[in-house]
Amino acid sequence: MRVRECPECERLWEDYTDATFAFMRLDAQVKMAQLRQEPPEVMALLREGVEAAAQCRDAALEHLKQHEATHQVRSAAAS
Ligand SMILES: [Zn+2]
Repeated sequence: MRVRECPECERLWEDYTDATFAFMRLDAQVKMAQLRQEPPEVMALLREGVEAAAQCRDAALEHLKQHEATHQVRSAAAS
């Protein structure tokens, strides 16, 4: 659940979408490199990049979830 007009939600959501796009771009690069049969050193570097991007994306999603949870606690306490 996203809360509108919360700058922190907006920021975290942007971080998450940026990280998702970065991951997708790198993932596509790995697939292209596989098709081109790039040398193992190149593949290893690319895979490292993808893994790092996936961790960034997961961390961004975790931050977003944790932040959203604070909104839910607040609205639950208010009702
Ligand atoms: Zn928020």
